[in-house]
Amino acid sequence: MQPLMQVPLLDLAAQYAPIRDAVVEAVTRVIDTQQFILGSEVNAFEAEVAAYLGARHAIGVSSGTDALLVAMMALELGPGDEVIVPTYSFFATAGCVTRTGARPVLVDIDPVTCNLDVQAVRRALTPRTRAIVPVHLYGQAADMTPLLALAREHGVSVIEDAAQAIGATLDGRSLGTLGDFGCFSFYPSKNLGAAGDAGLVTVQDDALAVRVRMLRVHGAQRTYHHEKVGGNFRMAAIQAAVLRVKLRHLEAWTQARRRNADRYRALFASLTPAAPVQLPVELPGRRHIYNQFVVRAARRDGLRDHLRAHGVGCEIYYPVPFHLQPCFGDLGAPAGTFPEAERAAAETLALPIYSELNEAQQQYVVETIAAFYAPA
Ligand SMILES: *Cc1c(COP(=O)(O)O)cnc(C)c1O
Repeated sequence: MQPLMQVPLLDLAAQYAPIRDAVVEAVTRVIDTQQFILGSEVNAFEAEVAAYLGARHAIGVSSGTDALLVAMMALELGPGDEVIVPTYSFFATAGCVTRTGARPVLVDIDPVTCNLDVQAVRRALTPRTRAIVPVHLYGQAADMTPLLALAREHGVSVIEDAAQAIGATLDGRSLGTLGDFGCFSFYPSKNLGAAGDAGLVTVQDDALAVRVRMLRVHGAQRTYHHEKVGGNFRMAAIQAAVLRVKLRHLEAWTQARRRNADRYRALFASLTPAAPVQLPVELPGRRHIYNQFVVRAARRDGLRDHLRAHGVGCEIYYPVPFHLQPCFGDLGAPAGTFPEAERAAAETLALPIYSELNEAQQQYVVETIAAFYAPA
């Protein structure tokens, strides 16, 4: 049977159509200059995004993963060091720690937000802890106030993984500007998406910013004179040009996502009987930007298959926590170690939430979910 409607998880073509001329003009401008790496386009984007976020320094890099890696390299992490990360996130959060030679120390998550559990962080601190990486998962702030106090008390750095959280705030302040570093991704599915890979590091401290800029270009402040071993973490000028166009629309897109979240709340609230689906909670003082609208559902895998069969895109972020990944088997945390993360992996499902989604589509998503749970 043909589905009645197609509702993709994300529709980048719908976002692109009204800005096509501006994007093509910006890309053409870069191609006409033949200046493809860093340069004035990247400088201009850095200034504009720093102003948007209220960050002291914003440094364009090659991806969100590289943003995390270069921040960790700027702290000179290495063998013998420990970095506390939630066991439930996108792989890069923990993978980058291992790449520096340091050891990721995994902690469980808070069941309400799926962000790291600050009490678990407290228990995981040791004299070897050098940094903590809170992830603002799905676009809502981690519990930063007690976390920053804990970090300060123990003299450890805070690297915010804000890859999913551009424009989200805590008590009015942008995520990514609260810790020592903020790491953003412009992967196309993020709220501010490039035309390929790109990322950003925000830094509050001037000396650390100098170090990140140097590490971005193989540790050289002067070309061919290398003070540190860095990498190629450079941002492409075409990406900066596209991001400059899209940054002007980001606030409106964010508001549309938030409106869509409210619409889902109203639509689910009107179901009788109610569906056994828990909606995401927006905590006081934390402006959620809904990079993902993630519900917790009974019989999740069945619901996922049912939605897909009826034309509704949905995805599991994430099906396997870090401690159950083969590459982290040596961390010695077998199944059962982090029950909240394991429960989240079994229950979470992301529904379409992109800005251009319309009410009829959302109604169809909710009706399709209701039909799955309806007694036969
Ligand atoms: C997307 C993402 C990253 C990595 O960003 P890339 O640009 O894909 O390298 C890191 N952490 C989180 C939480 C992400 O969602």
